[in-house]
Amino acid sequence: MTAGFPGRRKRSEQRVAAILAVLDRRFADARIALEHGNAFELLIATILSAQCTDQRVNLVTRDLFRKYSTPKALASAPVRELEQDVRPTGFYRNKARSIQGASRMILERFDGKVPETMEALIQLPGVARKTANVVLGTCFGKAEGIVVDTHVARVARRLDLTDAATAERIEQDLMRIVPRSRWISFSLQTILHGRHVCRARRPLCRQCPVVKECTSREKAPDLPQAKPSRTPARTPRKQPDHD
Ligand code: SF4
Repeated sequence: MTAGFPGRRKRSEQRVAAILAVLDRRFADARIALEHGNAFELLIATILSAQCTDQRVNLVTRDLFRKYSTPKALASAPVRELEQDVRPTGFYRNKARSIQGASRMILERFDGKVPETMEALIQLPGVARKTANVVLGTCFGKAEGIVVDTHVARVARRLDLTDAATAERIEQDLMRIVPRSRWISFSLQTILHGRHVCRARRPLCRQCPVVKECTSREKAPDLPQAKPSRTPARTPRKQPDHD
């Protein structure tokens, strides 16, 4: 805990502010890579993006959205055909069930429109906080949380912004230390940083704009080393993390 150590807390806040400023400069134009024309299409694309690259999802959704352009069309699609339509994205049986179930619920409970609240979105089949945050932030400009995908999770841990193991706990830690006004842009920028610089294997630390703030053990020893710092607030851990 840092409550009794104002100096340490201040250093942590300054470090977070420095990281945010660098990401903002480096990735000022960060945009979501999933192609979409409206909130419904982004919802479907995000469900399909689980364990799949955005490029592959875009290839699939270009045809999918031509074939099924509304919740009504997708809700009544023959499920076997739908499975084949989304097959290249992997886990195609589950994903076909999820996107069809979400479409049906949108029709039946939400008057055919993608709901605009976290509470309603996470009721849809195949939708958890990550997908809901993507749709809320991108389509409705609402910051109700922080998107934590594999890139955000990895970068946040390497930068010592969290030590949590699950997306839910990582999101809680980040929401405590990143100003709400930056939640949407922080996710987009961190995803780009993780995809192009702080890669899972062999991160490009020598080209990294936040190298001075990084405590990762994966850095080469001759690069500037930040002191490990306890970030201002951590999610209390009572049990091991399992999702
Ligand atoms: S210095 Fe390396 S490990 Fe640290 S954030 Fe940058 S790329 Fe990632």
